[in-house]
Formats: sequence, C-alpha cells, structure tokens
Amino acid sequence: MGNLLEIKNLNVQFDIFGAHVQAVRGVSFELNVGETLAIVGESGSGKSVTSKAIMGLIPNPPGKITSGEIFFDGSDLVKYSQKQMQKIRGKDISMIFQDPMTALNPTMKIGKQIMEGLIKHQNLSKNEAKTKAAELLKLVGIPNPDKRLDEYPHQFSGGMRQRVVIAIALACNPKILIADEPTTALDVTIQAQILDLMRDIQKKTGTAIILITHDLGVVANLAQRVAVMYGGKIVETGTLEEIFYNPKHPYTWGLLSSMPKLHAKTDKLLAIPGTPPDLSDPPKGCPFAPRCPHAMKVCVDHMPDYTKLSATQKTACWLLDERAPKVDPPATIGV
Ligand code: SF4
Ligand code: MG
Repeated sequence: MGNLLEIKNLNVQFDIFGAHVQAVRGVSFELNVGETLAIVGESGSGKSVTSKAIMGLIPNPPGKITSGEIFFDGSDLVKYSQKQMQKIRGKDISMIFQDPMTALNPTMKIGKQIMEGLIKHQNLSKNEAKTKAAELLKLVGIPNPDKRLDEYPHQFSGGMRQRVVIAIALACNPKILIADEPTTALDVTIQAQILDLMRDIQKKTGTAIILITHDLGVVANLAQRVAVMYGGKIVETGTLEEIFYNPKHPYTWGLLSSMPKLHAKTDKLLAIPGTPPDLSDPPKGCPFAPRCPHAMKVCVDHMPDYTKLSATQKTACWLLDERAPKVDPPATIGV
C-alpha cells in the first residue's frame, strides 16, 4: 500500500485575544490508499483542526499553519492558494461533518445539491448529473431516488440526511473522505447503519477515510489504524489491534477504560479525571502529565520521544524508557 497523504510536522496556531493557541503541535502521519485511519481524542485535542488543515479550511485569521507539510499526489497542499484548494476540495478530498442539517442547504432540493459538485468538478451536463445523483442516492441506500431528488432536506430523517451528505461527499469519487464525528448527532441504531454504510462504500469505491472521533466504539467498527491525539500531539499510533490489545500510552489506557463495555455490570463511564492542557501556554513536557497517574519528574520537564514498538506502532511516553519503572495497563481495559 502506498502513501496517499503524508503529513509532516504540522503546526497550527490560532491567535485569539492576544493569546497564541497552539492547537496542533508537530503532527506527522500518513494515510495509505484505501485504508481507514481513525484520529481519536477528546475535544480540543487538535483532531478536527488537523482535518481542517488538510482541507485548507483553517480560517486565517485567526488561524494559520505555522509550519509543516501536507503532501498529496506529490504536492504540498500547505503551499496551495485558496483557488487551488477549491479544485481539490470536494473532488479529490471530501469532508462530511457531524451535523447533516448544517451541511445541507435547507432551501435547495436534494438533487440540486448533489448535482452542484458533479457539474462543477466533472463537467457533466444537467441530465447526466441528475442520473449520477440518483445513482448516488441508491449507493447510500435511499429508496426511490428519482422521487427523492425533488425533495428538501426537512423531508428526510436525520439518518437519511447524513446519507445524503455522504452521497454529496462521494459524488466526484474522492481519493480521501474525511469524516468528522459522522455519527455523533445520530441515535444509536442509525449510527450503526451509517457505519455499515461507510464500510460498504469503502469496499465498493476504495476511498481512503480519515475518521475523526472521540468514540472508540466507532473506531473499532471502521478503522484499520488509529492515531491517538492529546494536547495537540499524536501520543500513540498503531493498528486497530495494537491500540485495543497492546496499548502503551496511559492516555490510550484512559480512553479504553472509559469505553462502555458490552458485558459490564455497570453502565457508569469512567471518565479520565482532570482537564486537557491550556494550549495557549502548552506544557514543555508530556501534555498528559497533569492527569497521568504514572507521571514522573522527567515527564513534566521533557517531552518524550516516540518509541517504535513495531513497524506500525509508536508511542510517546517516558514509561517506555528502559530506566522507567515497570507499569502494567489497568485491569479495566481488559488487555
Ligand atoms: Fe504519563 Fe509520563 Fe507517559 Fe506522559 S510521559 S503519559 S506523564 S508516564
Ligand atoms: Mg471536533
């Protein structure tokens, strides 16, 4: 599998009321052809900002990419103008957001909204675009596509609206689909249906997916690889199996412990105590140190380097230093 996207040492800053918030700090990862990579973390961890940077959607001001590279198809998207990015967005790289209602125009028929991208990026005639739009509705599992093209968003249920949003994102056969909390606004049964749909579509189209979520249940359903973000950094990355069965970072342990268990006697969620770091004054050491039950002095003073645990897993934690005490993962995560 080749790299489709390669992000190198990305830094994104927002200047808000005189403070410099370092939302993304030295993030590097790659996305392979046809895979699903999940970026997991709490809100404020930098996962959405990372995805917006890839799309060229960091509002400037107050935001800017202060350094780093985003290689797609051999070019660095960081150097692209807004005009160049418009040609990529919706065509090569598409995005679906959490709330399907805000992603759709309430005053425009569904058909017209799907056709827009087809006419703009693929030079289809109106009739061709209409035929393709009906095919797309069918692909995302909406019955009676010809009739439904003439309806407005409010005539669709929440789950059906998210299907329409996915159809729009897929219209131009993107190489990459970025899904930011795609099921968070939906109820549990509909969530499962949308995840099934995304998995199906990936099989059929081969689109690579970057899945942004705080929900490890969603990750387990869809991803092959996982990057765990905390305090603007990737703290651990690995295959789905490595992250779920051999996690090495205490923050990953915390996330796994707070995941609802299928057979648990209690439905109480174990939240990780404490709050994320203030990124207008980021800690010089490990960002998780104030909340980490295993923090040592070195953690507060120095950011740990990545330790490579396998060809696919690497973790930034001082516990992996040979001089550190041996610490086992908590029993709550069942690994
Ligand atoms: Fe905890 Fe230290 Fe590891 Fe950070 S580096 S996660 S504070 S043990
Ligand atoms: Mg977000």
